[in-house]
Amino acid sequence: MKITRLTTYLVAPRWCFLRIDTDEGITGWGEPIVEGRAHTVATAVDEMADYLVGQDPLRIEEHWQVLSKGGFYRGGPVLSSAVAGIDQALWDIAGKAFDVPVYQLLGGHVRDRMRIYGWIGGDRPDAVAEAAKKMQDQGLTAIKMNGGGEMRRVDTAGQSIALAERVAAIREACGPDFDIAIDFHGRFTVAMARRTLPLLEPYLPFFVEEPLVPEMSDHIGEICASTSIPIATGERLFSRWDFKNVVGAGIAIAQPDLSHAGGISEVRRIASMAETYDVALAPHCPLGPIALAASLQVDFASPNALIQEQSLGIHYNQGSDLLDYLVDTSVFGFADGYVARPTGPGLGIEVDEKEVARAAEVGHRWRTPTFRRDDGSLAEW
Ligand SMILES: [Mg+2]
Repeated sequence: MKITRLTTYLVAPRWCFLRIDTDEGITGWGEPIVEGRAHTVATAVDEMADYLVGQDPLRIEEHWQVLSKGGFYRGGPVLSSAVAGIDQALWDIAGKAFDVPVYQLLGGHVRDRMRIYGWIGGDRPDAVAEAAKKMQDQGLTAIKMNGGGEMRRVDTAGQSIALAERVAAIREACGPDFDIAIDFHGRFTVAMARRTLPLLEPYLPFFVEEPLVPEMSDHIGEICASTSIPIATGERLFSRWDFKNVVGAGIAIAQPDLSHAGGISEVRRIASMAETYDVALAPHCPLGPIALAASLQVDFASPNALIQEQSLGIHYNQGSDLLDYLVDTSVFGFADGYVARPTGPGLGIEVDEKEVARAAEVGHRWRTPTFRRDDGSLAEW
């Protein structure tokens, strides 16, 4: 079997899909994307196609090595995400070629269903208790919310107190068996994280995510040591090498993104490395259906997978949502806070090619919002 063509599709709300064709009629799908840089990643995929066309798609590891390291310049969000989408599509082809789900090729499933969480609130969270209760009534057992909006480097007492009050309101509304995760989104400094985390401890949050921006990762151990709250991070780390110091620093949960961190091949390895430090896996996925399908394939094969993020109804999904590009949407049927084990070959989804082609004619130019503080200076988004 030989790869004959790579085609990328920019589709709403902010995604990039990749189809890899072969001379035997088997096609694979991947989602190579950096949010806000979709055209850039699509161009990187196009450059990588010069190497891939004519190659055997089943030599996934060989292609991962060549594409990740063979260009001399390596790593970072754009190149690692291009490799990630290609890697997903190659695993999809392999699964279809052998007529098994990808997790079967990774050693078989280690669980029957996978716990998922929902997202409440936008970037400026309010009325979170009501939103969390609604999710709980729909069967979800865990949610994630944002920790704050535009933050000063050292902000007022009110910022920290208001967050603690929002978490308290959810705990009060949903009870002790409902999990509350809080995404700091890299908006907190070391000082603000250390000040705020103790105020959240009485409500036993599930985890606090990205307490610091990734370039402050050398301080993540300090944060972990300062609190009893499980610390999660990793959506802006792109390889084993990016994760290796972080997983040993005391974090509880690693959150590689299947569309950023080198795809199924590399996230599987990051999961194994995390396991040796007693760190759980919770793949980051506010993205589209192909990224979620790839995440689930790793989850079902990884003993330390804890919970899966998914983007249904997330505030980014304007004009299009998670299920819009699938022929059979029941593969992501969430019941009682879990998604069932997919049984189809490859990634276990069937992409609605007509809908993808139609959406790609419109395309998108989604850009990351810019946050500013009340003095006009740039804040972390
Ligand atoms: Mg996050």
